[in-house]
Amino acid sequence: MRLYPKLTLALIALACACAALPSVAFAKEGARAAPNIIVIMTDDQGYADVGFNGCKDIPTPNMDRIATGGVVFTAGYAPFTVCAPSRAGFLTGRYPQRFGFERNTAWQPGNPTTGLAAQETTLAAALRPAGYKSGAIGKWHLGAHENFHPLNRGFDEFYGHLGGGHCYFPEELTIQHTKEARNEPDSYRTWISRGFEPVRTERYLTEEFTREALDFVRRQKDNPFFLYLAYNAPHAPLQAPAEEIAKFAHIKNEKRRTYAAMVSVVDRGVGQLLDLLDELKLTDNTLVVFTVDNGGSVGAIAANNGKLRGEKGSPFEGGFRVPLAIRWPGNFPAGATFEQPVSSLDVFATIAAANKIPAHPERPLDGVDLLPYVNGKKTGAPHERIYLRMFDSGAYAMREGDFKIVQPKKAGAPALFHLAKDISERTDLCTQDAERFTAMQATYQLWNAQLIEPVFPGLDMREWQKAETPAKPKTTSTPPQE
Ligand code: CA
Repeated sequence: MRLYPKLTLALIALACACAALPSVAFAKEGARAAPNIIVIMTDDQGYADVGFNGCKDIPTPNMDRIATGGVVFTAGYAPFTVCAPSRAGFLTGRYPQRFGFERNTAWQPGNPTTGLAAQETTLAAALRPAGYKSGAIGKWHLGAHENFHPLNRGFDEFYGHLGGGHCYFPEELTIQHTKEARNEPDSYRTWISRGFEPVRTERYLTEEFTREALDFVRRQKDNPFFLYLAYNAPHAPLQAPAEEIAKFAHIKNEKRRTYAAMVSVVDRGVGQLLDLLDELKLTDNTLVVFTVDNGGSVGAIAANNGKLRGEKGSPFEGGFRVPLAIRWPGNFPAGATFEQPVSSLDVFATIAAANKIPAHPERPLDGVDLLPYVNGKKTGAPHERIYLRMFDSGAYAMREGDFKIVQPKKAGAPALFHLAKDISERTDLCTQDAERFTAMQATYQLWNAQLIEPVFPGLDMREWQKAETPAKPKTTSTPPQE
């Protein structure tokens, strides 16, 4: 494991504290049992659009609070490059390509096959026997049919929208019942669901989700809880209150100015949530994750992935390397940076280990318990390899140590990069290191052979063009890529 000096210092400090006070170590073990869990997942936000990854033009002091109180994973990978498959992976702890969830779900509330496969177990369902109450707030996107509804997939509460994105202002949400939404653009304009019931919103949607998250924590504070707070922001359509946009007058790019306002409102909500944990004295027993579902969407919403090549949808780093910070007081060292590749699939595995949830023999987790790696009990890399496959485009990637192979699309030539020396994936080494390249290709194919083909047809973007004009969401941007 390669540690930054501050992590080493933190570990030395921890070791000193434990040596002086043996009871601290015992208390630390105790702290591991049944922590509350809050996952904050934003949508399409850029790798470099959080302060803890170097963002300069959009302050994110509260996302950064999670980072400074915990560990920043600089090489955190989402399991896919677009929304729905990534979320299916995150919530099951398994590569979604194993169960055929390899496309964005289309808006098909009458279709019982387009969504998260019934045999897969969500984190909420896995935690239920341990006494957790789980709430999903925000974007779902794992199937619009009732079979896939969060309340039928392990969650006790749901407040959000079932589709791939949503309009933000209450006056735009004109379709009361989800079943009345005929197509993808309509799905952006439904009322918000509380459980199965449509409700009218009164605020900018991001603030609605924050308010609901605060209520959830207050309601559930006396038992272990899992809050999956999946803000649809800053996913398209680019919409923010004028007074929020005005705060970013220094940003000349109009799209990015609105995007900055959207990220900023999310950040304020994150702060309110962290403040509430402090107020209720829950901070020390709550594991908080901040991450993004896929790489930043640069073209559509002006996200910034920094030095990473590509954006959402790409097998290059910008497609699926995402901000990831985890705060778990007493277990994860505070203010540490971890550089080895990890996956957001590891969140499920880490929580499962903390709760001694056994792995399913036929559906093993692809994630790894990160605790022993960040507290120094295990050395080396948590993952020998990180994988990606995108069936429809023929693209794939595999990272092994500092090396990565990338097949950009069916017709393109595969390449080999050394990420430690070439983070922007510019210098193809496949000729000069042909032996490694060939071996890595063969290793990838072994993984690929374990996968199945997609089990449902995906979102067809022509839906957006076919939709009647009145049904189109009001947006200042191009139709979203989902
Ligand atoms: Ca997304």
